[in-house]
Order: sequence, then structure tokens, then C-alpha cells
Amino acid sequence: ATVLALETSCDETAVAIVKNRQVLSSIVSSQIDIHQQYGGVVPEVASRHHVEMINLAIAQAFQEASLDWSAIDGIAATCAPGLVGALLVGLTAAKTLALVHQKPFIGIHHLEGHIYASYLTEPALEPPFLCLLVSGGHTSLIYVKACGHYETLGQTRDDAAGEAFDKVARLLDLGYPGGPAIDRLATQGNPQAFPLPEGNVSRPEGGHHPYDSSFSGLKTAVLRLTQKLQQESNQPLPVADLAASFQETVARSLTRRAIACARDYGLTTIAIGGGVAANSSLRRHLQTAAQTHNFRVLFPPLKFCTDNAAMIGCAAADHLNHGHTSSLTLGAQSRLAIANVMQLYQYPAA
Ligand code: ATP
Ligand code: FE
Ligand code: MG
Repeated sequence: ATVLALETSCDETAVAIVKNRQVLSSIVSSQIDIHQQYGGVVPEVASRHHVEMINLAIAQAFQEASLDWSAIDGIAATCAPGLVGALLVGLTAAKTLALVHQKPFIGIHHLEGHIYASYLTEPALEPPFLCLLVSGGHTSLIYVKACGHYETLGQTRDDAAGEAFDKVARLLDLGYPGGPAIDRLATQGNPQAFPLPEGNVSRPEGGHHPYDSSFSGLKTAVLRLTQKLQQESNQPLPVADLAASFQETVARSLTRRAIACARDYGLTTIAIGGGVAANSSLRRHLQTAAQTHNFRVLFPPLKFCTDNAAMIGCAAADHLNHGHTSSLTLGAQSRLAIANVMQLYQYPAA
């Protein structure tokens, strides 16, 4: 199926046209420079910019694909999870277009979109596989069983990996977004300079949870360490060493959990998704571990790791091919577990 897809869950206004696992066009209008001055995403500002950009982005997507409405089999939009005001812009536009053009509408879970980025990269990929989703809002290990069928095996108990990068970057005065800044600076630092806690989640029965993570303790450890270093000397903070040590700790923690999870569930492919997949240390650790333990790791290109509508369109085309469509009464939801995505669809009885 060929699908027009809209993604407005956060600070990217994105529109794409996707034919199954092939991207025909992909437009991403980022608001990063607008939110930069506030040091983070301001929800009301994001919604307003989505409204201003969405029609233009739709027109550009058709132009880039050299297609018109007759080529479109369905219209999709991200409907959960995310900022409700931001989600509503893409969702309302998609439902209106579906009504006007008499095409099926497909609501898509944002994280399912991040999973589908791997199908764009590797069209021959088939479930089952493990997805390590590391983004601004999520750190999850998801068992991908089939279209619409997922099980979350591990997740963060507090901050997401990307959120930890952003918070530590703010603490070190490196600006927003923090991930790319820390990654860049870390190349000049020693990752072994400061030992930091990996963020294990202990279990009442003893030991720690093998797949869950926690990054707020790590963030606090970096804060205490910088305070201590500042008190002990008048030298400028060793920011490169701090950035490298922090990044190394996150990469080691995520890699350990992903490998343990894949091994325990007998999954041989690990697909990575979300903006933190861009991190060079995480890539290195996963690639080395994959070679040692005989796993295949898939890293989609950066443009499909961060928010985009191509991944949403790819998920929607698969749902449409399975006969899954959504009601025009579907609303936006700020939270929705990925295990419950089939709630978004009406589908013929098997
Ligand atoms: P979600 O999908 O959970 O709603 P999101 O879509 O906002 O969150 P993404 O756009 O996938 O998140 O990723 C943004 C995050 O990725 C930011 O926290 C950013 O700091 C982080 N990031 C980007 N590049 C890097 C990098 N090279 N190293 C580490 N983190 C990075
Ligand atoms: Fe995202
Ligand atoms: Mg983003």
C-alpha cells in the first residue's frame, strides 16, 4: 500500500509518502532552533508551529514524490504517545484529509514508527527480533513479534537515555540538544577518567533487573562529581573527560541489557531506534558485543532514527496491508503502552 503519513508528536513537523518499505518522499521541518532558546521543547510553541508548517510539508511531500492523491491508498498520523496539543495537529489534518478524499485512516503509535525505521533500512527484515529503542522520551527493549504485536521486556525506571544526555549536557553547560554535544566533546576525553554508576535497578528478591535501567542516579553522580571537582580546584572542569565517562557508562549499560535480553529470548537480530542510536560510543559497544556474541545489529541512518514521518508511513502501510484501519473518532493519547496498539484498529475477523 502507498500511504501519506503525518508525524507531529513533538518538535518535528514531518510528512512522508511511503510505498510499503520504500520511501517516496520524506519532509522533516525541525523546530530545534526555536526551542533551543528555552533549553527544551515548549509544548504550546510546538503546536503552533505544527499548524503553520503542516500544509506546506504535505504539499512538499507530494511534489518530492511527483505523485497526486490518486496514488494514495491511506492516510496515517501519529496519535500516541506524545504532546497532546502537538499530536492533535497531525491527527486532525490526517482525519480531515481521509474524510475529504474518502481514503482509510490509520492511527500510528510513535514507538511502533521508531521500530519500523529498521524495515526502511533493511526491507528483508522480518520478526521476530529485538528493538532497542533509545530516544528523548524512551529507553525500551521491545520484543517485535508481528505487525501490531509487541512486548516490552525492559524499560527505564526514571529518565530516558536521551533525557539523561540532555540533562547532563545542561549541567556541563553544553547547550540543547545535549546528545550530539556530548558525543562531539567525548572524542577529546578519556572514557575511563571517572568511574560512574551504571544505573542498575535492584529487585526485592536480590540482584538487579536484567533489562530495566535507571539513569537519574547517573545524572546525580555526574552533578556531585562536578561539584566536588569545582570545590577541590580552581582549574576549569574537565568537561571532555566527564562527557566521555558519562557516555561510556550509558553505552555499556544499554549494550549489556540488550545483549542479555536478546540471548535470553533467543533473538539473533537487534534493531536500534531513536535519536540516541546516533551515539558513536553506543554504536561501538553494540557492534563489538554483536561480533563477540554472534548477533546482528541494525543501525538505521540518522535521518530515520530521529523523528520522521517515513517510519510512521512504513508502519501504516503494513497495518493497511493487514486490513487494520482506525476510526475517524480516534483521539490523541499522551500515553499508550506499545503492547496495546491493536486498540487503535478495527479489523476484519480472521
Ligand atoms: P520519543 O520518541 O521518546 O518521544 P523523541 O522522538 O523526542 O522522543 P528522538 O528525536 O528520537 O527523541 O531523539 C532525541 C534525543 O536523542 C535527544 O535526547 C538527543 O539528545 C539524543 N541524541 C541525538 N543525537 C545523539 C548522540 N549523538 N548521542 C546521544 N544522544 C543523542
Ligand atoms: Fe521519537
Ligand atoms: Mg525530536
